[in-house]
Amino acid sequence: MNTSPDLLIVGAGPSGIITAERAASLLGLTSVLIDRRNHIGGNCYDTAFANGQLIHRYGPHYFRTDNDAIVAYLSKFTGWLPARYVVRALYNNELYPLPVNLTTLEKFYRTAHTPESAEALLASEREDIADPRNSEEVVLSRVGRKLYEAFYVGYTLKQWNKHPRELDASVCGRVAVRFNRNDAYVDHKHQVMPRDGYTRMFEKMLDNKNIELRLQTSYREINEAVTPRVATIYTGPIDEYFHYRMGKLPWRSLKFEFRVSPREWVQPCVQINYPWDYDYTRTVEIKHVTQEKRRDSVVSFEYPTDQGEPYYPVPAGENHRLYQNYLALAQEETKNKRVFFLGRLAQYTYLDMDDSMERAMALIPAIRNLL
Ligand code: FAD
Ligand code: UDP
Repeated sequence: MNTSPDLLIVGAGPSGIITAERAASLLGLTSVLIDRRNHIGGNCYDTAFANGQLIHRYGPHYFRTDNDAIVAYLSKFTGWLPARYVVRALYNNELYPLPVNLTTLEKFYRTAHTPESAEALLASEREDIADPRNSEEVVLSRVGRKLYEAFYVGYTLKQWNKHPRELDASVCGRVAVRFNRNDAYVDHKHQVMPRDGYTRMFEKMLDNKNIELRLQTSYREINEAVTPRVATIYTGPIDEYFHYRMGKLPWRSLKFEFRVSPREWVQPCVQINYPWDYDYTRTVEIKHVTQEKRRDSVVSFEYPTDQGEPYYPVPAGENHRLYQNYLALAQEETKNKRVFFLGRLAQYTYLDMDDSMERAMALIPAIRNLL
């Protein structure tokens, strides 16, 4: 192993990989890129299941972005499949389109509606909350209590083990409300899947003589052996980096169960959410978006838990305060030791893939300034 690369990059998820690739291609810098897992891609990792079908090992990853530059950049490493991310929620034994749209409203209130009459209906259901301070208030202010109780409370309690009123408005505020029949889960300009999967796309990014990859290697193991000449980029959990000196940050994790079915299709769309039924939050039949043609199908079941690997920072008041304490330590570490903290785990922020990628790209000028 090169013990004095320009960069030591901890974590081979999107944040680490894009930093390594951009630093190599734009600045000609060498990197040692490590990950303690036995694969690249972080939580976006996809791989063949026992039956040979491509699965998303850490939950479905729907690529969606409004950023043309990110798509243009990734297109150097992958082709794309157009994707339709369609989600339904099971409530009282019936499936409803989610986000709430005109069809959801008609089915829920059992009356036909025009977009105008649906808006008037929700205007009479909505609670008058001008500046929603939490996830309960944001939903009540958009759709009112009946829909909130049907689709949001149970799901959120299961997903976070917290009541919506304990979570930032941004958590449930992510989910749209529509007065048309658009049933795509998100509104982004680009909704696509890498044609041969995320792992293949990331492999191509790492196919660069300036990047040395070391899997099954943790920061703690090699931190003393490797002395980067320019900087360290750390994309692991920030509290772990500082040996939990200020206390443990709460993380939400998931247990995934994958089941193969002998049927060609198991459910009508890629994702079904269960706000009230079962212990799992959602089932995902990823074939709907990877578009593999085969006679069997794998469905994943997601069980939220506090145990296990950190997946979700928990966006709630007191956690932000604890993170701010770590952030102050991190800023000192950047100034004194040239360690940059990047990504969902190190920035304790609920980032989608495109957000993580944008942040990695934005770090390149800061690295250049050190040369
Ligand atoms: P990660 O992908 O978490 O990668 C960090 C890597 O660092 C990991 O591989 C880890 O093993 C490694 N690491 C950590 N600490 C150390 C250490 N000390 N030593 C060595 N290695 C270390 N985004 C979307 O845009 N669309 C979606 O549909 C979507 N769905 C998601 C579903 C789930 C269940 C989850 C959890 C996330 C989802 N995301 C989605 C978000 C997406 O996963 C993240 O934006 C992205 O993975 C962040 O990349 P990252 O590199 O910052 O972190
Ligand atoms: N949510 C909900 N009901 C749903 C879907 C989402 O209450 O059927 C809430 C829940 O709190 C969830 C948040 O909205 O964590 C964001 O949903 P999203 O589907 O974006 O979650 P992710 O895919 O990031 O897990």
